[in-house]
Amino acid sequence: MSEEVESLEVINLVVLEDGSTRAEFYCPGCKSKHSPTVKDGNWKGATWDFNNDLIYPTLKPILSSAFIDRGKKVECHAFVKDGKIKFTKDSDHELAGETVELKPIEK
Ligand SMILES: [Zn+2]
Repeated sequence: MSEEVESLEVINLVVLEDGSTRAEFYCPGCKSKHSPTVKDGNWKGATWDFNNDLIYPTLKPILSSAFIDRGKKVECHAFVKDGKIKFTKDSDHELAGETVELKPIEK
């Protein structure tokens, strides 16, 4: 039997040199990490409200990101509430319109 304790935390808080904090999580739609800023420090960009729960996080308002995958623009729009992520129908990936549980993140 393994004594290893698995973390249930789906959020990895990352503090940057400018004093801001990012709530990093794995997006199952994009199959990559999103890192919204939840504490601004000297960061002048957008910030999200975070309930400080690493297992059942809620982030407000909606998260939007866009990236280029194999020359094609992919947009991801999602709400994170109580540890679940709900993608809007206009997201450009297979989980558009779905709500799924966030998975524990590797730190
Ligand atoms: Zn995403």
